[in-house]
Amino acid sequence: MSEITLMISKQLREAIEDDVTDAYLNGARSAYADSPGLGKQSYTRDEFDFEDIRILQTSGPLGLALGNFEQELNTEMNKVIFEAAALNVPITSMVDQVRGVANTQAWKLGRIARTEMLNVFNEGRFRGYAKAEDLLEKRFKYSLQIINDNRTCGAHQELSGRIPAGGMFLDDLIELQQTIGAKYNFRLTGKALLHPNQRTVLVMVR
Ligand SMILES: [Zn+2]
Repeated sequence: MSEITLMISKQLREAIEDDVTDAYLNGARSAYADSPGLGKQSYTRDEFDFEDIRILQTSGPLGLALGNFEQELNTEMNKVIFEAAALNVPITSMVDQVRGVANTQAWKLGRIARTEMLNVFNEGRFRGYAKAEDLLEKRFKYSLQIINDNRTCGAHQELSGRIPAGGMFLDDLIELQQTIGAKYNFRLTGKALLHPNQRTVLVMVR
């Protein structure tokens, strides 16, 4: 039975890892193409990108969620098996229960992964812009497109209020996020945009 748990975990992990790679590179490519004059040149991924991607896959909220998923799945599976043995439950009904546990846990993980993917996309955007700046030997200014309504959290409201209309340099923007994030008790990793909310995207200001 623990082999089944392992197999499910492995498949899900691989699927999520692929999604992270795709989201990051999509972000990097789209930002790179958005930089003045670079639109026609295609983005080349490099070692730095892969290192960035590896970190996003293993640490941060997504890496944590994956770890939790494996642990919870194991615990829940063991519970089902233990109870089934104690109560002499027929094997078919035990398999159904195990399947149910796996589905619930996978659904929870999927929900986290979906919201987290936008963060990964934005990490890629940062990378694409930073690389364009290096190549062009120029600095640009950036802003965050934040949807502001009654669902917007205080941290994002403050962030959107503190970015000047003309935008900010990349470093300064990251620093502002970290400062505001700390004030609202967000534990931010990477260049995180406070928390993934599906509603914030890094853009260049011109
Ligand atoms: Zn927010």
